[in-house]
Amino acid sequence: MLSRLASDRKSRVVVIGAGIGGLTAAALLTRRGYQVLVLDQAIVPGGCASTFKRKGFTFDVGATQVAGLEPGGIHHRIFTELEIDLPEATPCDPACAVYLPGETQPINVWRDRRKWKAEREKQFPGSDRFWQLIDNLFQASWAFQARDPVLPPRNIWDLWQLTQAVRPGTLTTLPYTFLTVGDALRGHGLEDDWRLRTFLDLQLKLYSQVDAEETALLYAATALSVSQSPQGLSHLHGSMQVLSDRLVEALEKYGGKLLMRHSVEKILVENGKVKGVLVRNQKNQEVGTEPADEIVANVTVQNLVQLLGRNAPQGYKQRVDKLPEASGAFVVYLGLDETAIPPGCPPHLQFMYDRNGAIGENNSLFVSVSRAGDGRAPEGKGTIIASSFVDPKPWWRSEDYEAMKEKYTQEAIARLGQFFHLTPETILHQETATPRTFARYTARDRGIVGGIGQRVPTFGPFGFANRTPVKNLWLVGDSTHPGEGTAGVSYSALTVVRQIEAMQ
Ligand SMILES: Cc1cc2nc3c(=O)[nH]c(=O)nc-3n(C[C@H](O)[C@H](O)[C@H](O)COP(=O)(O)OP(=O)(O)OC[C@H]3O[C@@H](n4cnc5c(N)ncnc54)[C@H](O)[C@@H]3O)c2cc1C
Repeated sequence: MLSRLASDRKSRVVVIGAGIGGLTAAALLTRRGYQVLVLDQAIVPGGCASTFKRKGFTFDVGATQVAGLEPGGIHHRIFTELEIDLPEATPCDPACAVYLPGETQPINVWRDRRKWKAEREKQFPGSDRFWQLIDNLFQASWAFQARDPVLPPRNIWDLWQLTQAVRPGTLTTLPYTFLTVGDALRGHGLEDDWRLRTFLDLQLKLYSQVDAEETALLYAATALSVSQSPQGLSHLHGSMQVLSDRLVEALEKYGGKLLMRHSVEKILVENGKVKGVLVRNQKNQEVGTEPADEIVANVTVQNLVQLLGRNAPQGYKQRVDKLPEASGAFVVYLGLDETAIPPGCPPHLQFMYDRNGAIGENNSLFVSVSRAGDGRAPEGKGTIIASSFVDPKPWWRSEDYEAMKEKYTQEAIARLGQFFHLTPETILHQETATPRTFARYTARDRGIVGGIGQRVPTFGPFGFANRTPVKNLWLVGDSTHPGEGTAGVSYSALTVVRQIEAMQ
C-alpha cells in the first residue's frame, strides 16, 4: 500500500488509529513530506470524537465541546498549517451551568473573565486569593505550553525544546509542581468550603479524571481557565465529526492514505526498533504486514503494551500495570421533541444529585444539549447527551450486564427528568453506551476513556512520553501530555511530528 505512495518522500510512517490525535499527526506528517498510511479498526474516523446517526438525529459519541479554535489555539494553528478551513462553531456561553445537589440556581461558568470573576465572588465568598493563584498559574502555564515544550523529555533534543520554552514566568510555577488542588484549598483555609470543593470536583473530574483532592494544581489551573476568552469552548456546527472529516480531507489532499476497518494486531519490532505492523482487514479477515520506518500509535498506553506483546520493555510494562484504575463512561443519547428542552437552555450543564454520594456513577451527569439549527436534529427536535464516569470493571461481568445497563439508563433518565420534560411522547430515540460499547467502537482497553489521570505522579513532567522506549515508536493521544480532549491530543500529535522531523 505504502509502496504505491510517492517514493520521493521522506520515511514511511504507519499511524495506528484515526482518532483526533492520529489524524492530526498523520495530516501534519503528510504535509511535511512523509509517506503516511493510517489504519483504523472502526467504520468511521474520529474515535471518541466521532458521531453516529439515528432517525434523523446526529449524536456525538463522546466529545461534544472543543477548545483551541481561537487564533493561536492548537486546532487553529494546525488547520492553518494544513491550509484547511476551521469548522464553523458557536462559542459556549456559559461554558457550563453547574447545579449542586438541592440547588435550583446554577453556577454559570461565563466566557467573559470579568463576568466569571463576579460569579465566583457571588458563589464562593472568601475564595478570591485561591482563584487569583489559579489565574496566575494559568497565565504562566499557558504561555509555557504555547512555546511547545516536550514533556516529559526523553533525550537531549526533547530537553532542549523544554528549556527553550522556559521563561522567568515559568519558574514561578515550579514550587507548585508537587501540589494538588486539595493542597491549595487547605493553603487558603478553604478545605471546608463544601460548595467550592464540590464545584471543583465536578469540573476537574471532566478534564483530569480525578477530583480536586488528587488533581495536580498546575494542570487544574489550565483546566479551570480555558473556558474564558480569549480561549473558550465551542460547539461545532453539524457535529464533532466535522473535525475528523477536515483532517482526513487534509491527509488525502497531501497524498496520505486512510484505511478504515483495518485492525492492527501487533507492532513488529526487530533489534529494539519498529519494522512494521500486522494488520487484519475486517472486511475479508485477511491478515498481512505493513512495513514502517516510524509508527505513531494513537492508542491508550495500555493498548500499546498489548500491541507490543513480548517486545514491550519490562520496565514500561510494569509502569503501565501500576497505573491507578482508569474510568469508563456511561452515556445516554436522547433524540427529543423540542418541547422537552427548557427554552434558553445552556449548551452544557452539570448536575450532582446526592450530596453524600461520589462524583460519577450517575450521581453526577454532564449534559450536552443541541441548539435549533445546529445540524444535530430535524426541525422541531433536539438532542441531549448525558455522560457519567463509571468504574469499568463491573460492566465486564457478563451475568450482570443487561440488567445493569437497564438500571443505569432508567436512573439517568429519571434524574434528567428533573430538569428536562422527558415523557414517552417527548423521547423519540433513546440509546446508551457503556464501557463495553467504547471498547467495541474505539478499541480502547476495557473501554477506558480520558487518559491516565492528571494526578501529581502522572501529569506533565511525570507522565508517559510521546517517545517510547522502542526506537521509532511514538505514542500519541490522551495517555500523553497534555492529556484528554481534542485540543490536548492535537498538542500531543504536534509534539510527535516535531520529534520525528528532528530525527531525520
Ligand atoms: C463521554 C466522553 C465525553 C468527552 N467530552 C469531551 C469534550 O466535550 N471535549 C473534548 O475535547 N474531549 C472530550 N472527551 C475526550 C476526547 O474525546 C478524547 O480525549 C479524544 O477524542 C481522544 O482522542 P485520541 O486521538 O487520543 O484517541 P481515540 O479517540 O480513542 O481514537 C483512537 C482511534 O484508534 C483506533 N484504534 C485503536 N486501536 C486500534 C488498532 N489496534 N488498530 C486500528 N485502529 C485502532 C480507534 O478505532 C479510534 O478511532 C470526551 C470523552 C468521552 C468518552
